[in-house]
Amino acid sequence: MSLTDKTAIVTGSNSGIGLGIARSLAEAGLTVVINSFTDSEDDHKLAADMAAEFKTDVRYIQADLSKADQARALVEKAGACDVLVNNAGIQHVAGIDEFPTEKWDAIIAINMSSAFHTTAAALPMMRKAGWGRIINIASAHGLTASPYKSAYVAAKHGVVGMTKVVALETAEEEITANAICPGYVMTPLVESQIPDTMEKYGMDRETAIREVLLDRQPSKAFATTDQLGGTALFLCSDHAAQITGTTISVDGGWTAL
Ligand code: NAD
Repeated sequence: MSLTDKTAIVTGSNSGIGLGIARSLAEAGLTVVINSFTDSEDDHKLAADMAAEFKTDVRYIQADLSKADQARALVEKAGACDVLVNNAGIQHVAGIDEFPTEKWDAIIAINMSSAFHTTAAALPMMRKAGWGRIINIASAHGLTASPYKSAYVAAKHGVVGMTKVVALETAEEEITANAICPGYVMTPLVESQIPDTMEKYGMDRETAIREVLLDRQPSKAFATTDQLGGTALFLCSDHAAQITGTTISVDGGWTAL
C-alpha cells in the first residue's frame, strides 16, 4: 500500500506537534493539509515551503476548531481525507472551583468535540476510498490526571474513549482509529517556559528542566515532535493495520509510574 496517493489533514499544525507530524507525513510523500484558526501570510508560506522541501502538495486551510461547522468544513474543503490527525489543543490551569466556564467550554470544544466533528465528516470519505487512518493526539493526561487541569484531563480522557468507539464502528473496514498519548514534548510553547522556570526557582537550565518541567517524566528527557511524527507515520503503515482502538504512549515512562 502506497502512502504517496493519500491525503492527510492535520489539525492545529502551524506549530509544535502538529507541525512535526505534518512534516513527517509530507516527507513520506502524502498530500498534506495544515490548519489553524489564523489565516496569516506565514501560515500559507509554511505550506509553500513544506511543499518545496518535500516535493509534495501541502495546503493551508484556515478553520477555527472551536466551531462545529468550521471543523466539518475543514474536511469538506480539503476534498479528500485518508489520514485524519486530530491534534489541535489548548490548555488552561486553575482549581476546579475557580475554573472559568468559557475556558472549560473552549477546551472541551477544541480538544475533544472538534475531533468528533472532523471524524464524522471524514469517515464517509474514508469508506468511499476503502481505507483510512484516524490518529487522535491525546496525552498522558488522557490516561492519568494532574490537579488544576480539569477541562484538559476530561477532554483528553474523552478523546481516548471516542477513539475506541470509532475503532469499533470501523473494525471490519480498512480503517483504524488510535490515540497517541505524549508526555512532555519539546515544542516552542515548552521552550518558552524554561527562562521563567529558571528564574522562579533560581535554577540553571538543566536543573529546571530535570527537576521542574520533567518532574513526572522518568526518562528525564522530552519527547520530540519528530518522534511524534514517526509514531503517526507508523500508524499509517501496513504494519499497523491491526492496531486499532488503542493508545500509544510516547511519554518516557510517565504512565508506568
Ligand atoms: P501548540 O500550541 O504548539 O499547538 C497547538 C496547535 O493548535 C497550534 O497549531 C494552534 O494554532 C492550534 N489551535 C489552537 N486553537 C485552535 C483552534 N481554535 N482552531 C484551530 N487550531 C487551533 O501545542 P502542542 O504542544 O504542539 O500541542 C499539540 C497537541 O498535543 C495538543 O492537543 C496538546 O494537548 C497535545 N499534547 C502536547 C504535549 C506537550 O508537551 N507539548 C503533551 C501531550 C499532549
